[in-house]
Amino acid sequence: MSRPRVVILGGGPAGVGAAARLAVAGAAEVTLLEQNELLGGNAGSFPIAGFRADFGSHRLHPACDPEILRDLQALLGPDLLDRPRDGRIRLQGRWIGFPLRPLDLALGLPPSFLAGAAWDAASKPFRAAATPENFATVLERGLGRTICRSFYFPYAEKIWGLSPAALSATQARRRVSAGSPAKLIRKVLGAVPAFRKPGAGRFFYPRGGFGRISEELGRQAETAGARILIGARVGKLEREGDRIVAVGFERKGQPERLEAEQFFSTLPASLAVRLQDPPPPASILTAADSLRFRSMLLIYLVIDRQQYTRWDAHYFPEAALRITRLSEPKNYSASTEPAGRTLLCAELPCDADDAVWASSDDDLARLVVEDLCQAGLPDPGRPARVAVQRLRFAYPIYEPSAEEAFATIDRWLGTLDRFVSFGRQGLFAHDNTHHALAMAYAAARCLRPDGGWDAASWAEARRRFESHVVED
Ligand SMILES: Cc1cc2nc3c(=O)[nH]c(=O)nc-3n(C[C@H](O)[C@H](O)[C@H](O)COP(=O)(O)OP(=O)(O)OC[C@H]3O[C@@H](n4cnc5c(N)ncnc54)[C@H](O)[C@@H]3O)c2cc1C
Repeated sequence: MSRPRVVILGGGPAGVGAAARLAVAGAAEVTLLEQNELLGGNAGSFPIAGFRADFGSHRLHPACDPEILRDLQALLGPDLLDRPRDGRIRLQGRWIGFPLRPLDLALGLPPSFLAGAAWDAASKPFRAAATPENFATVLERGLGRTICRSFYFPYAEKIWGLSPAALSATQARRRVSAGSPAKLIRKVLGAVPAFRKPGAGRFFYPRGGFGRISEELGRQAETAGARILIGARVGKLEREGDRIVAVGFERKGQPERLEAEQFFSTLPASLAVRLQDPPPPASILTAADSLRFRSMLLIYLVIDRQQYTRWDAHYFPEAALRITRLSEPKNYSASTEPAGRTLLCAELPCDADDAVWASSDDDLARLVVEDLCQAGLPDPGRPARVAVQRLRFAYPIYEPSAEEAFATIDRWLGTLDRFVSFGRQGLFAHDNTHHALAMAYAAARCLRPDGGWDAASWAEARRRFESHVVED
């Protein structure tokens, strides 16, 4: 019996993960289409001045499903480093170690902050739920005003560009893993050896950049017979009735077309709607148009010193600073190479129509240096090199209206035969890479040997995805 043909759209972790699973199992003839020249999507890596840089701080969290982690360990071998986390948060003008540790908190935070947080925790049972709930009310009911108003709220406003009250309650539940005093205390106690769970305070990181996860999965898929086409931009999803029959794409300036028994899409769900030929009903297009993504400028400074600081990442929730995080990739892999220089990556969330989006590299570098100095970090001096990456689709924005809009297009996409949408963009989720890989594994399992789709198992998997909570 010939194997079903599966075309996978997008070569981020979700796409390459599914390609590797299907190809290794010999379950399908797989072709993957990725618009960029590199695999990995937002979780990819690229070269700059002798470094391999990620698109912002990326770590593989120990919460990764054990089966997936075992597969990645087998694939990357000793190159998948198991590293201690060592970051700092700037809070009320002071530095607090991150992950949070009891002693650090006791010594580093102002007594008024600690007293406020303790009072908030004690008075939690007396805080009532608001109706309707939003990001601000859920978090403030859970954690109280002290932590919310000095940390979560200004940070959320910088990241998503909206006041916390304008974000949906779901965002708080799925994006904040320490949303109640009990969870927060568990996290803090997790730093104490007697209470430490396996993996707490650690992360996995591939030598050579986070993108190696996707690159190795891509290589594994190709070795097992999958075709991986990079520089292949999908421009059309051909539909007959409610069945997707072919995908149109452009590669090396030439139009191409592929038919298949199944299409796995990891493209943004709103794009999967817009690429339909014939177009979907107007109400579906309107819903797709209303989904918004926050964009992100990644500003890379190469500086002439061996190490800038010993911390892997600095987090900046304070409104007075424009950047939200600074990472130093050398510290992620304890690398000493290249000698005499290091790379810094600053994350600046914004909207793609903000003036800052079009700023020159030099202006953005100046902005970063100003923020670092204002935060009390060393002046990095004049960078030897500056590079900027622009992530158009960095974070989905969960406004209350977005939930209904996504549900509308998700329902419609779910009616299409031979088509399934998943991945971070496909499900309009904030999810981590290990979540995207979990989706890939689940999708590969739902393909039947005859090319049919096990809809019941997929529905069950979708319910599991609802419980994903993002790790920072
Ligand atoms: C700043 C930042 C920091 C993060 N930090 C972490 C972290 O520390 N740990 C962690 O686990 N996760 C982190 N994440 C999340 C992680 O990047 C995602 O979970 C992961 O990239 C999701 O993979 P995906 O395959 O679902 O989607 P994506 O990576 O978005 O991949 C989608 C792919 O589809 C391709 N595509 C889109 N349109 C087309 C088209 N028309 N034709 C062909 N191809 C197309 C894109 O080029 C892309 O390669 C972070 C994300 C950001 C933005």
